[in-house]
Amino acid sequence: METTRLAPSPTGALHLGNARTFLVTWALARQRGWRVALRIDDLDGPRIKPHAAEQAIADLKWLGLDWDGPPRIESEHCPEFAAALATLARTGAIYPCRCTRSEILAASLSAPHSDEHELRYPGTCRPAEPTCVDPVLLDDPQLSWRFRTHDVAEAFNDHFAGPQSFNTQRIVGDFLVGTKGCLPSYQLAVVVDDAAQGVTQIIRGDDLLSSTPRQLRLQHELGLGPPPAYRHLPLVIGEDGRRLAKRHGDTRVAHYRELGVRPDRVIGLMAEWCGFGDRTELSAGKFRERFDIERLPRKAISFTVEDDRWLRAE
Ligand code: GLU
Repeated sequence: METTRLAPSPTGALHLGNARTFLVTWALARQRGWRVALRIDDLDGPRIKPHAAEQAIADLKWLGLDWDGPPRIESEHCPEFAAALATLARTGAIYPCRCTRSEILAASLSAPHSDEHELRYPGTCRPAEPTCVDPVLLDDPQLSWRFRTHDVAEAFNDHFAGPQSFNTQRIVGDFLVGTKGCLPSYQLAVVVDDAAQGVTQIIRGDDLLSSTPRQLRLQHELGLGPPPAYRHLPLVIGEDGRRLAKRHGDTRVAHYRELGVRPDRVIGLMAEWCGFGDRTELSAGKFRERFDIERLPRKAISFTVEDDRWLRAE
């Protein structure tokens, strides 16, 4: 069965941008009869906040979204990530790295590439040839683990954004798969989790487009079967053109809820962002009936002061 997932990272409450991606994912899945899995990506970065997972679930429910089955809590599956790292170590696809963040930062100042998830790694610890590594070393708390990349452009077809091509080595170099202490990086965790949840359809923000070839490589090396279909959506940005964040004021779904705004109003604004035409209040159910992915704008969507006023019915 086709399966998609809602995968909030509990690094803070859902803002209108995340919520729009989840609404689109949910509506498309319910239109097409896909299973909707929920996952809490609580290993995603050092900025995990207590109670943010409960808050994200409460926000999704308040908007009128639902899912099938209990959530998968990423941090409860560490043995699965360790097993994946062991598989990669045995085939020589990864190698141990002793570099500190400040060493990488110093080296990358002369070769300034990186993406949102990591700094470009200059290859300091990379062995000349792929070398099988004894998985016992995975328990060494001094070592992190990196995936060997090649200087090639890797192409894939995004079902929304169209044909894509990225050279991972030029963007981030040999990327992290395991951090010191044998915790998975975002790139590895997402691949293992999606496989465990049987995810075949991934819908997410286009800030993750360039991560996709990394995830496709990991899926292949781990023998996880056919890759999922990807749809990367343009982000919601502020009027300054930057990705929606604290600097744009309080754009959390919970903030509007606390102000007494009804969910139908929030969905109404998102419906306009999704190409429905004029904004009017709308339930999640009505949004699902009328949603048409073909009408979704292909450019970033701007959240304006005027949008905020409309939400608050001023
Ligand atoms: N938890 C990630 C996020 O909120 C999504 C991960 C993914 O879709 O790959 O950005």
